[in-house]
Amino acid sequence: MQRIAVLTSGGDAPGMNACIRAVVRTALNNNIDIYGVERGYAGLVKGEITRLGTRSVSDMIHKGGTFLKTARCPEFIDVEVQRQAVEALSAFGIDGLIVIGGDGTFRGAKDLCDNFGIKVMGIPGTIDNDLSYTDFTVGFDTAVNSVLWAINNLRDTMHSHDRVSLLEVMGRHCGDIALYAGVAGGAEYVLVPEIPFDLDEIARKIKKSYLRGKTSNMIILAEGAGNRDEIAETLRTKSGINVKVTNFGYIQRGGSPNMNDRILAARFGYKAIELLKNNSESRAIGIKDNKVITVPFDEAVKHVSKFDKELYNIAHILSL
Ligand code: ADP
Repeated sequence: MQRIAVLTSGGDAPGMNACIRAVVRTALNNNIDIYGVERGYAGLVKGEITRLGTRSVSDMIHKGGTFLKTARCPEFIDVEVQRQAVEALSAFGIDGLIVIGGDGTFRGAKDLCDNFGIKVMGIPGTIDNDLSYTDFTVGFDTAVNSVLWAINNLRDTMHSHDRVSLLEVMGRHCGDIALYAGVAGGAEYVLVPEIPFDLDEIARKIKKSYLRGKTSNMIILAEGAGNRDEIAETLRTKSGINVKVTNFGYIQRGGSPNMNDRILAARFGYKAIELLKNNSESRAIGIKDNKVITVPFDEAVKHVSKFDKELYNIAHILSL
């Protein structure tokens, strides 16, 4: 393998730059030419490919987002569009590709392998932590810490005003950001798509705790668990207590990656080049029990819930 390209695709996540840096520096260390593709599959199709050197990734390790940019490219499900991407790779003499992204990105990678025999390595980069084959994805830890910052600030104001706070966080169909931030932030209620919840019961408990003198409550809502305004309105009506809604939004996608995400990025980027150098089959890279693992893309994109029910129970026990 002499020429490899790297791209970031789907939602950006803190640590993507650190990961590109790891890929670039490991490739150069192995005398492999390394190219960067701008704007994910959209840029690949258009041949937006440039050579990267060791200085291209200087001063990048601490920056959120992705300097290669990212984009959605819905038309990439079309085999003819994929063919254009393959032609662009071949025009640059590139014989291996590394994609950093989430499950959509991995589906695109799988198509490139299955339909055209391109060798692709996948690195999980998404704040959602919604890939079941890996314990963690690059960006998740930093996003949870940003949510924690928001919870701390909300606590100050909610406590002062005797209010109930409902904070919506990201995660698409996965409740991990809500769960981890909820436990670490001491939230009273964690509402996730994986576990059904009863708003009548929550409203009853809020009212009861209010009468007992506990006048502020924190509810963390995963975006996939329901509509924040409808849930808040139901709780207001049923409990008679004001519920203030905050949508943390895109703030949780940015920021400097923390230690865990930078270490994951380094280990994953290094592994991707090692696999390509050793002519391995196309694989998705992940981490299980702190060991770097690899699985076929078929397995990586399977939707099997790895939701941590024990941690969820702990959240509720500690919130009494
Ligand atoms: P993520 O990778 O974070 O899950 P998306 O779901 O938006 O983000 O996917 C990123 C990109 O991957 C899409 O814009 C599209 O180009 C490509 N993609 C997604 N699903 C498929 C699919 N089924 N087949 C081919 N390409 C896909």
